[in-house]
Amino acid sequence: MQAELIAIGSELVLGEIVDTNSAQIARMLRTIGLAVSRTTSIADDLPAITRLVQEACARSAIVITTGGLGPTVDDPTRAAVAAALSQDLRYHPELWHQIKERFARWGRIPGENNRQQAYVPEKGTPIENPVGTAPAFWVEHEAAYGRGVVISLPGVPREMEYLLSQRVLPYLRERFDLTGCIKARVLRTIGVGESVIDAQIGELEKLVNPMVGLNAHAGNVDIRITATASSETEADALIAPVEAQVRAALAEHIYGTDGDAIDHVIGRLLESSGQRLALAETGTAGQLNARLAVLPMAATVYAGAGSLGADEDLTAVAERLRASQGAHIGVALRVYQGAGPADPRGLEYAVSDRFGTETQRSGYGGPPASLPLWSTTAVLNMLWRRLRTAAVSSEIAEPSRPTPNLQ
Ligand code: ATP
Ligand code: MG
Repeated sequence: MQAELIAIGSELVLGEIVDTNSAQIARMLRTIGLAVSRTTSIADDLPAITRLVQEACARSAIVITTGGLGPTVDDPTRAAVAAALSQDLRYHPELWHQIKERFARWGRIPGENNRQQAYVPEKGTPIENPVGTAPAFWVEHEAAYGRGVVISLPGVPREMEYLLSQRVLPYLRERFDLTGCIKARVLRTIGVGESVIDAQIGELEKLVNPMVGLNAHAGNVDIRITATASSETEADALIAPVEAQVRAALAEHIYGTDGDAIDHVIGRLLESSGQRLALAETGTAGQLNARLAVLPMAATVYAGAGSLGADEDLTAVAERLRASQGAHIGVALRVYQGAGPADPRGLEYAVSDRFGTETQRSGYGGPPASLPLWSTTAVLNMLWRRLRTAAVSSEIAEPSRPTPNLQ
């Protein structure tokens, strides 16, 4: 069963707004086991939308549009869907009544052009919209391959989501016998390259269900395990053994799951160990400071940014910061943007905590614009590893505190 999405609105293709609705619809369809095969954005152009809806119906049993249901002439969805399915529009007095009632509740009277919104393709089923004015609809049709449907939802994200979850998902489940769900589990790694991960879990990447895929971004690699099953419990059961295998192979690199961000993970480790961090950075436009200062627990764990002179030794700076500003951990980062082959791009950083001071220096060959993000992630990687080791060793060493083992 294929689902295809069409996001309608000139502001989408002109780059004025970003099409977040398609991503949201795709995520919500996954909960009923329906995968989206294609999404298209298109301008408010009636003939073009009509053709696109026709093409989509020829490819996909389920076609969902979003946007273009407003009351003005440049809201083309109703007319385009009707034309694509060779139907006329039919006036629904009960929809007009509902629109008038909704306006009355706001103390307003709808304009005559709002009456447009009470029209639905003649074989369509209206979906009352209790959270906005534009009624939505679906139209079932006989396609060459069997039953198909076009579902038209409003563009306003809140209204779209409400109607999709309350009306459309239950309808699709029943009408298309969808009993399945698609569930994804993401294991998030840091400080390990895609190729190393490939070498460790390459065999798992050949699995079909669950499917294992990698997604790399500036020093982080996400490992996504996606299962298709008839229930969430069954999907969990498919995911669990594969997750265990991935964890066994890559345990020391996995810092979190699903929505966890490394910044937050570090914030929580600092918070639970009662430590504060101070830092100094140069060449990064203050990005490390920016990442830590916005943490929800920043007031307790972040002691702020200090200065870093051009010739200062990073080890000395990290140690000085640790002793100052009421901090337990000092971090220093210097990024070189490079001026040529004799002066390459690179980074150098130091983390000083109660176990000692660690420094690292490396070159950088990636896109220049990504260097600051790459560098701050490298520092967070070192920090995370030291905090985690400390958390583990203090657990083992309780009740006595571990003693500094360096210097
Ligand atoms: P209305 O009756 O409110 O006009 P509509 O169905 O005609 O509803 P649009 O006019 O296309 O919807 O869009 C209304 C607003 O919803 C847009 O201004 C935009 O802010 C938001 N919107 C529309 N489409 C999308 C989309 N694909 N992704 C995110 N936001 C969207
Ligand atoms: Mg509109």
